[in-house]
Amino acid sequence: MRLEAPCLRIATGTILHETNTFCVHPTTLDNFKYDTLAPRSVRTGYLNAKDFFEEYAGTKSIAGGFIDASKNLGFELIPTIWADATPGGTVSSEAFDYLLSALLTELRKIGRVDGVLLGLHGGGYSETHNDLEGKVLKEVRAMVGEDTPIVSTLDLHANVSQLMIDTADALIGYDTYPHVDMYERGLEAANILFSTIKSRVEPAMVMEKPPLIISLQGQFTGKHPMSKLMEKAHEVEREDGVLNVTVSASFPLTDCVDTGIALIVTTNNNPKLAEEKAKQLSDLAWSLRKDFLVKPTPIKQAVQEAMGTQGPVILADIGDNPGAGGPTDGTALLRALVEAEAKNTVIAVMRDPEAVSKAIQAGVGSQVTLKVGGKTDKFHGDPLEIIGYVRLISDGVFRNRGPMATGAEMRMGRTVVFDSRGIEVILTELRMQPMDLQLYRSVGIEPSEKQIIAVKSSVHYRAAHTPIAKKIIEVDTPGITGPDLKRYPFKKVRRPIFPLDDI
Ligand SMILES: [Zn+2]
Repeated sequence: MRLEAPCLRIATGTILHETNTFCVHPTTLDNFKYDTLAPRSVRTGYLNAKDFFEEYAGTKSIAGGFIDASKNLGFELIPTIWADATPGGTVSSEAFDYLLSALLTELRKIGRVDGVLLGLHGGGYSETHNDLEGKVLKEVRAMVGEDTPIVSTLDLHANVSQLMIDTADALIGYDTYPHVDMYERGLEAANILFSTIKSRVEPAMVMEKPPLIISLQGQFTGKHPMSKLMEKAHEVEREDGVLNVTVSASFPLTDCVDTGIALIVTTNNNPKLAEEKAKQLSDLAWSLRKDFLVKPTPIKQAVQEAMGTQGPVILADIGDNPGAGGPTDGTALLRALVEAEAKNTVIAVMRDPEAVSKAIQAGVGSQVTLKVGGKTDKFHGDPLEIIGYVRLISDGVFRNRGPMATGAEMRMGRTVVFDSRGIEVILTELRMQPMDLQLYRSVGIEPSEKQIIAVKSSVHYRAAHTPIAKKIIEVDTPGITGPDLKRYPFKKVRRPIFPLDDI
């Protein structure tokens, strides 16, 4: 039986990456194919419709939000490709060209669409297209024409370009870091697109960019000053005629002309109001600039504090966050914990495929000496020799139960729990940021019973770990994801810019 009116046809897709240009290893097509966070079927190149729905339906993700919106609003959601790689170095031309061509080919195959709903990140940077998302939007626009609305979600870490603003009808960024509102923003973006197609609204989007870069740790939305900025953004969003306010805190580790905080206001056909509100928010962000600076604790002091306080104490290894391009094999914190003879401690995680293989070869219960970590680059400490025994071997697959990307399946590759005199090192084949307590429980570790939990993460760990933590310490570990932006050899960012320049 046919519905009275034909169902709206909305195409969806993404090429999703957060690029740390200080990372020495490029992000290749293999990373999009085999990476932990990438959907299963991307392993065959890209996702077909069936795999897209199988992977994301029922999950609290962007795509999960799109899927539920299509049911709530009654439109047909038609996937192109959904390609996602763990944050890392500059995306190779080969990878980006392949994925863009795949996305456009699928979009062409779909034929007539009423709108396009993208799930872009905003922090992507490829060898040939430094403004990766600007390029994607431009090509999609060229294909669907001026009259077909395009709306995309953006990560809170988007480096938004004017081209993106000019090309999309609306861009809807996350409001939270840790990102616990991906699903809601997915619903919101779909709603705005739907209303635009139905001519109920006409989005007018304006962006303001004060000369300000904020470290990842300074962007935590759970405390001042980011909480204050977000509060104000929500206040503006509730005003008449305002459709959306996005505070894009930016990904500070992309050395790119678009790097820096962006305040984006979308009104219903009122560019003047959008301009005024974006300016207000921009002034507020600028006035708070010094409050965004963070000062982490030196490693030895952090370890002493963690050993002398009631646990669990979270030690955040913020210099080596895989979620921001870190290699996940930094040894500085582990070395300090070994030297201090810390007990009842867990390291989440150490990516070292070589050590994993050796431990698996030795087998469960065997005692072995392993050289772990420090194998990717020169910025995260040397390999560390530790003696211990192989406690558990796992396939490294678990499903999130916490507040972030709830329901999504995570894959760490083959995983070993290696117990070295009371320090349990979770050795993995793939990079994985500890965002969910199932990571521990899936390998037989109860995190709430640990004295010390060392996490390679900037901020995302907070969502799941804060409820069990007696104390959280941000540790000043070496690496390519830490908060002291003056340590990085920036060449392409706009100057002057705070805090690189004292303005
Ligand atoms: Zn992010």
